[in-house]
Amino acid sequence: RPVGDGVRLDDLPLREDLRGRTPYGAPQLDVPVRLNTNENPYPPPPELVADVAAAAGEVARNLHRYPDRDAVALREDLAAYLAGSTGVPLTAANVWAANGSNEILQQLLQAFGGPGRVALGFEPSYSMHPIIAAGTRTEWMPAPRREDFSLDAVEAAKVVAERRPDVLFVTSPNNPTGQSIPPEDLREIVAAAPGVVVVDEAYAEFSTWPSAVGLLDEFGDRLVVSRTMSKAFAFAGGRLGYLAAAPALVDALQLVRLPYHLSVLTQAAARAALRHADATLASVARLVAERGRVVDALSGMGFQVVPSDANFVLFGRFQDAATVWRSYLEHGVLVRDVGIAGHLRVTIGTPEENDAFLTASEEISR
Ligand code: PMP
Repeated sequence: RPVGDGVRLDDLPLREDLRGRTPYGAPQLDVPVRLNTNENPYPPPPELVADVAAAAGEVARNLHRYPDRDAVALREDLAAYLAGSTGVPLTAANVWAANGSNEILQQLLQAFGGPGRVALGFEPSYSMHPIIAAGTRTEWMPAPRREDFSLDAVEAAKVVAERRPDVLFVTSPNNPTGQSIPPEDLREIVAAAPGVVVVDEAYAEFSTWPSAVGLLDEFGDRLVVSRTMSKAFAFAGGRLGYLAAAPALVDALQLVRLPYHLSVLTQAAARAALRHADATLASVARLVAERGRVVDALSGMGFQVVPSDANFVLFGRFQDAATVWRSYLEHGVLVRDVGIAGHLRVTIGTPEENDAFLTASEEISR
């Protein structure tokens, strides 16, 4: 038995506000078809793998030294990618990077949230937003979406003007529901916000709507656009998230980031992956086409499908989503119960994975 296993969680002098909480985490089960965490189903191409291995070998010769604390070369590469895809002339000074966009969001709340401060988000949305708020002791204030999960911009702007959150989260496309927010609607909400507005664009590459990066020139005093390489870039295991904002905002995060938070291996691997962006991002069109096929097939079986701009779809309605989740598992398909009554979320996979999911759905719909 492990040393110290007589000690129970309740015996520890844990912060009162963390007592009784459960950790975030989708089940990591060994199932043939895993469509539960919105990863890119296509593994990196062999050229990318070789380039990452070579880059890791190169920097390994300097592992006795700390990495570039400011990750300048990586930020230059990320800025070039974002500038290229949005048409906004961003430079490294506009970009900050961390171990996944979760760490980006945490640093933002460390700097702009915290005790005595409030973060607001429109639910249902990404469940880590309130969890990171809790970890940084930022009060979480949920606000509603419409019945159909879309965001009413007029209502949202009103709520923001009334509640005056220090940090506002807008997720676009929204996880787990899938819709994007049009830039005109976003402008209305950002204009009403007195604090920092974090637009979480983890799934932006899958959406046809323009990025909020286009609003940075107008709202540089408050707007932050968060991105990740975990989804479209097929780099979830590499752990690389980033943001675009005014340089002053990037400066603010230097006050809370841990020194050398991005290892030399992470920086080198991410840069190598970015050199193959064209190849990895080619999967986006394939996944969007498959999303259309999955949505049509589910609708044809009588399911209600929430319109999606992302690499997943929310569908229902079920008497008991938890029971249906288990039925999928029995068919060898892992989907996600995101806690929305009557609904489940499925990530778009390879055509073969989607076929397995649809075959299971067919049987479940009977
Ligand atoms: N934001 C949203 C909306 C997400 O869905 C996710 C991943 N599930 C993240 C951020 C965090 O992803 P990562 O830390 O891998 O960048």
